[in-house]
Amino acid sequence: MPERTATAAHDSELAQELRRGGQRVTSQRLVINRALKALDRHVTAEEVLSAVTERLPGVSLPTIYSTLELFERLGIVRRVSARGGAVLYDPRREEHSHLICERCGKVEDLDLTPETEGVLAAARRQGFEPARAELVLHGLCAACAAGTAPRRP
Ligand SMILES: [Zn+2]
Ligand SMILES: [Zn+2]
Repeated sequence: MPERTATAAHDSELAQELRRGGQRVTSQRLVINRALKALDRHVTAEEVLSAVTERLPGVSLPTIYSTLELFERLGIVRRVSARGGAVLYDPRREEHSHLICERCGKVEDLDLTPETEGVLAAARRQGFEPARAELVLHGLCAACAAGTAPRRP
């Protein structure tokens, strides 16, 4: 898809979802959403901030966080808790699972979603109201397992 067409599609998709959630469509929200789509990977709020500062001079990190939280509530991004409490935002909306490397912190997608109906039902029996379930595997990425990953500070 040519870049301009893709941008327009992302804009109208976001506008629809904001309206459905009773939220205003602002240029700031559109720009942040475009940045997420362009980055197209698991990103921190800081990475989103540096991707949008040119288009949104003066935008602050708390604003980025609150926009990402709104996007999360609307199901536009998902939040992934990575190593050491780091929070990453994932613009990929298809159901998938995550693999988190405990050594280098890398987060990878796993294109498989396990059956969670039994888990959800058990949670309900306990009086919990589950919104969603996801699978996160902790371990070593291929490079770390092979001992070839560069060490991160
Ligand atoms: Zn690793
Ligand atoms: Zn993901």
